Amino acid sequence: MNPHKKLFHLAGGARNSLILTVGCGLLAALAIIGQAAALSAIIDRVFLNKQTLATVGGMLAFFGVASLLRAIFSWMQQGFADRAAGFVKTGLREQIGRYLQQAGPAYIHSQRSGELSNTLVNGVEALDAYFREFLPQIFLSALIPLLILLIVFPLDPLSGLVFLLTAPLIPLFMALIGAVAGALNRRQWKSLSRMSAHFLDVLQGLTTLKILGRSKEQIQTIARISTDFRFATMKVLKVAFLSALALEIVATISIAIVAVEVGLRLLYGKMDFQGALFILILAPEFYLPIRLLGTRYHAGLEGVASAERIFQILETAPPVARQFDATPFDLSRQTIRFEDVHYAYNGGARPALRGISCEILPGKTTALIGPSGSGKSTIANLLLRFLHPDRGRILLDGRNINEIDPQNWRKQIAWVSPKPYLFHRSIAENIRLANPAAPLERVVEAARLANIHEFIETLPQGYHTPVGEQGARLSGGQAQRIALARAFLKDAPFLILDEPTANLDPGVEALIRQAMERLMAGRTVLLIAHRLNTVTRAGQIIVLSGGEIREMGDHLMLLQADGLYRRMRVAYQGR
Ligand code: ADP
Repeated sequence: MNPHKKLFHLAGGARNSLILTVGCGLLAALAIIGQAAALSAIIDRVFLNKQTLATVGGMLAFFGVASLLRAIFSWMQQGFADRAAGFVKTGLREQIGRYLQQAGPAYIHSQRSGELSNTLVNGVEALDAYFREFLPQIFLSALIPLLILLIVFPLDPLSGLVFLLTAPLIPLFMALIGAVAGALNRRQWKSLSRMSAHFLDVLQGLTTLKILGRSKEQIQTIARISTDFRFATMKVLKVAFLSALALEIVATISIAIVAVEVGLRLLYGKMDFQGALFILILAPEFYLPIRLLGTRYHAGLEGVASAERIFQILETAPPVARQFDATPFDLSRQTIRFEDVHYAYNGGARPALRGISCEILPGKTTALIGPSGSGKSTIANLLLRFLHPDRGRILLDGRNINEIDPQNWRKQIAWVSPKPYLFHRSIAENIRLANPAAPLERVVEAARLANIHEFIETLPQGYHTPVGEQGARLSGGQAQRIALARAFLKDAPFLILDEPTANLDPGVEALIRQAMERLMAGRTVLLIAHRLNTVTRAGQIIVLSGGEIREMGDHLMLLQADGLYRRMRVAYQGR
C-alpha cells in the first residue's frame, strides 16, 4: 500500500482534531473574506466618496472583529493541529513500543540499534509536519479556494474564470517537482539512518577501537558518512527552494493577470472600484492555500520517507496476536520438558541447537555447562519465550508452552544476567522494575537479601541515588547484586541465573555467591554455570557442546563419565 494511504489510515485516530483543524482554517478564511469586504468598502467610501471616518465607524468595527476572529481561529487551528499530530505520534510510538516488546530482544539484537532508535525518535518526529501541516492543508487548499470562487463568481464571473484557470497551474508544477523531491528525501532519510547507526556503533565500541588503535580510521568513515548526509540534505533543500520559487512565480503571475484584467476594466469604467478592490485583496488569499500546500508538501515528504521505514518495521514478521490457553499453571510444581528442540539463527543459516531433549524438574537446580557458543543462552531465550523452537516442542506437564500467553509465562520467571541493564533512574526504581508497586520496605528487604543494602546506605542519597545509564556509576559486582535484588523482589518460582564470568575480588564474589544461593533456595533454577562449586551442587547437570547435549546427570555421574570432572576442572580453572 502506498505510504500516503497508510498515513491517512493512521490519522483516522485523530479524526476529530483534524476535522476541527480544517474547520477552524475555513472559519479563518471566512474572516479574511469579511476583512477584505470591509476594507474595500471603507476605502471606497472614504477615498472615492469622501465620507468621514465617523460614517464608516460600523464598518471599521466589523473589520476589527473580523481581524480578531481571524487571529482566534488561526490560533485554534494551530492548537487542534498540534493535538492531532501529538495524538498520532504518541499512538505510533506506543504501537512500535508494543511491537518491539512482543518481538523481543532477539529481533532487536538483529537490528542496528542506532538505526532503530533514529527511526523511533526522529522518524516519528518527522511525521509531525505531515500531520500538523500537510494533511489539514490538503483539505484547506481545496476548500478555501472553492469558498472564494463561490463568492467571486456571482460578483465578477470573468475574475472567477481567471482564478479557475490559473489555480491548477500550481499543483501541476508541484507534482512535477514532487516526483524528484520524493526520491531525494528517501535518500536523505537512508543516509541519516546510516549515520545514526554508525555513530552509535562507534560510540559503543570506542574503548575497543582505542585499545586496538583503530579510532583514527573511524574519523574518516564518520567524515565520509556525514558528507554523504550533507550532500543528500543540500539536494533536498535545493529542490525545496527551487520549488518554492517556482510556486511563488506561478502565484505572482496569476495574481498579476487578475490585477491587469481587473485594472483594465476599472480604467474603462466596466467595473466599480469597490468590487475591483475586493477581488484584488482576495486574489493572494485565493492562491495562498495552494502555495502553502506546495511548501508543506516538502515538509511532509520527510515524514513519508521515515514512515516507509516505520511501516517496514511494523510489517516484518508481525508477532502473532493470538488466543492463548488461560488455564493456570505453576512453574514451582510443574516439569518443563524439551522434546527434540532445534533452533537456528539468521533464518536457519546458523544452527544453535540440534535436538535438545531434557527435563527441568520443579524445585531443583539444573546446571547448564559448556563452552562459549554451545547454545546455553539460546536455551535460556527459548525458556524466556524470546525465541521459539524451529522444530520440536517445549512442554509444561504435557502442555506446549506456546499455548500460554508469554506475558503470563514471564511473570513466573526471574532472569539474572551477568551484565544487568541499569536504567538512568534511582537505585530504588531500578530494583522496583520487577514490581513497581512495591513499598520501600520491600525494596530494602530485597536489597538486604542481595547483600547490597549496606553499600546503598553509604551512598549520599541512599536508595534515591541516581544510577548512570548502563550502571555507569556502579561496579560490575554492585550492578550484579542490584539485579539479584530485582529477582528477590519479583519472587518468581522459576529462576534463570547466568553466573558472572568476570573476575571479581574474592570478598565481592563471596557476597554475590551467598545472595545467589539464598535466591536459589526453594526455587526451580536453570543455572548457566561457570564455576565448579555451583555445578557440583546442582541436582542435574547438562553438558552442552555444539548445540547438542553431550552428558546429562548428577555430578557423581559426571565424575564417572570418562574423566569429565577432570576436564571440567581444567576448563574452569582459575574461576
Ligand atoms: P552460549 O550462550 O553457550 O555462549 P549461544 O546460545 O549464545 O551460546 O550461541 C549458540 C550459537 O548461536 C553460537 O554459534 C552463536 O554464534 C549463535 N548465535 C547466538 N546468538 C545469535 C544471534 N543473535 N544471531 C546469530 N547467531 C547467534
